[in-house]
Amino acid sequence: MNYNVDPSGYYGQYGGAFIPEMLYPNVEELRQNYLQITSEESFKNDFHQLLKDYVGRPTPLYFAKRFSEKYNTKVYLKREDLCHTGAHKVNNTIGQILLAKRLGKTRIIAETGAGQHGVATATVCALMGLECIVYMGEVDIKRQAPNVARMKMLGAKVVPAKSGSRTLKDATNEAIRDWINHPVDTHYIIGSVVGPHPYPDMVARFQSVISEEVKKQLLEKEQRENPDYVVACVGGGSNAAGIYYHYLNQPEVGIIAVEAAGKGIYTGESAATSVLGRTGIIHGSKTLLMQTPDGQITEPYSISAGLDYPGVGPMHANLYTSGRGEFISITDDEAMQAGLELSQLEGIIPAIESSHALAIFKERKFQEKEVIVINLSGRGDKDLNTYIDYFNL
Ligand SMILES: *Cc1c(COP(=O)(O)O)cnc(C)c1O
Repeated sequence: MNYNVDPSGYYGQYGGAFIPEMLYPNVEELRQNYLQITSEESFKNDFHQLLKDYVGRPTPLYFAKRFSEKYNTKVYLKREDLCHTGAHKVNNTIGQILLAKRLGKTRIIAETGAGQHGVATATVCALMGLECIVYMGEVDIKRQAPNVARMKMLGAKVVPAKSGSRTLKDATNEAIRDWINHPVDTHYIIGSVVGPHPYPDMVARFQSVISEEVKKQLLEKEQRENPDYVVACVGGGSNAAGIYYHYLNQPEVGIIAVEAAGKGIYTGESAATSVLGRTGIIHGSKTLLMQTPDGQITEPYSISAGLDYPGVGPMHANLYTSGRGEFISITDDEAMQAGLELSQLEGIIPAIESSHALAIFKERKFQEKEVIVINLSGRGDKDLNTYIDYFNL
């Protein structure tokens, strides 16, 4: 079994490009060029130079000694929280902006929910001197004021999406509309392994630097490249795709995906897409999707804004359906406790998204000698107010 994308843009039965005809030229231009451009030596040099000098890679692979002792197993943390801008998202925006430049684009658009991807996009646009327009739901603009301020400070224009529920999916619709109207000069930077082919594969490749580094680092620390498990939280699935990538087709490495159960999987306030989802089309891709019986997308809920997405990328839908991945759902409360625990055992305050991945040890037991690598996708600075309210700090 091959868990990478196939030549027609599918992961098993999921993926493809379900797009309006007017978007076809834009997506087709990307599809025809992304593999060739990203495999050129000059592209790889520019990408790795920026990852090193600007993002701060390689990020450490840290053996969490006290945390490991507590759960009687060997836990390593891949420290994506130490990336510039505070999370893994910048790996992808660096890759896409370099690609956009080589395609001759001068204008960048993006959609954002919580604002993390918007900030990562505004950052690389400032770096490259390109015009940046970020679509964001009007409701989210109010909820995520600090990230809106950061984007503006970085020189981006933040455009409110005022239709529908005025959240992420409405911002996505606005971005797609913009792209249709600007087919020649504009590149659309999607922030996760979602969207029409080739986006899921392209974003996974940019994020695959994470598992590329883990292989080298684990060889140094454990004299072997392969851990027993790789673990990541899944919103759209990009940090997970990054840490799974070089292990996808190595069956001896277990893959664990952690979704947000919100207030409980069956409470109606959840984002546990693999359990609750059915096959449908979102964002131009066929995948597992939370929807009503007649196919309307359901509003997801999670305390963590980055996991609050009604679908998962097609790679993950296939990992779930095929049984290659083990999927675990973690509630808000479990994640918050795990975030507090890591802070006090290791002196690392994680993003609430990443706290979901850390929470699996309460219910999922591992052997003493097993090596588990968790992707610590981001740092908790952006979540401080949520932690303060929750714990009455
Ligand atoms: C956005 C975000 C996520 C979720 O996105 P994925 O594409 O699933 O990785 C997870 N962690 C952090 C810190 C984020 O900012």
